[in-house]
Amino acid sequence: MNDVVIIGDGPGGLSAALFLAKNGLSTVVYGQDKTVMHYALLRNYLGLGEITGTDFQKLAREQVLAFGADIQDRHVDGVVRDGGAFRVTLNGGDTVEARYLVLSEGKAPKLAQQLGVRFEGAVAVTDKNGQTSVPGVYAVGRLARPGRSQAIISAGDGAVVALDILSKEKGQEVIDWDSPPKK
Ligand SMILES: Cc1cc2nc3c(=O)[nH]c(=O)nc-3n(C[C@H](O)[C@H](O)[C@H](O)COP(=O)(O)OP(=O)(O)OC[C@H]3O[C@@H](n4cnc5c(N)ncnc54)[C@H](O)[C@@H]3O)c2cc1C
Repeated sequence: MNDVVIIGDGPGGLSAALFLAKNGLSTVVYGQDKTVMHYALLRNYLGLGEITGTDFQKLAREQVLAFGADIQDRHVDGVVRDGGAFRVTLNGGDTVEARYLVLSEGKAPKLAQQLGVRFEGAVAVTDKNGQTSVPGVYAVGRLARPGRSQAIISAGDGAVVALDILSKEKGQEVIDWDSPPKK
């Protein structure tokens, strides 16, 4: 049983994975590096100057792995709620379980629809912490804001969702701050 399964490996899913794994939750991301980021030249990602989407994705994946998340090159075919958890079926038929699901599917919200997440038009409706209408299921990035598709927004959404899950687990508000060593 994983703490969190993340479906989608664009900036939204990877950002959620970074915060979750850094703070000790077992986290696996499923995605095949097919994000539209590979078509982008980022000049609007604060702090990064100019970087291709491909280079951004490479750095992001390395950072997420370094914090202990797992990234699996698999497509997720289906998801169902199973008691208090979720059963995720991977391409090929094997299954994994998780207590929380983070959906970062991008423009094709197949799994969100399968789970019965409430939509308004093309928008997966969430609260301010990314929680959808299905308890334990979060939606981030382009899936939740198709009209506001920017890498930095997806990454911010991922961070918000992760902090909400971490806060629920801890029973109090969690923040993730580091400081440089004192001289
Ligand atoms: C030509 C172009 C140029 C762009 N330029 C910029 C720019 O300059 N600046 C900027 O900020 N943004 C730019 N963008 C937008 C940016 O790429 C998106 O905002 C960003 O990729 C959204 O991130 P996301 O994590 O929400 O979703 P996505 O990046 O769409 O990631 C979703 C991922 O989930 C995977 N996935 C979906 N379903 C499954 C499943 N069932 N199993 C496994 N994996 C699954 C997909 O394959 C994909 O990898 C550009 C986009 C395009 C197309």
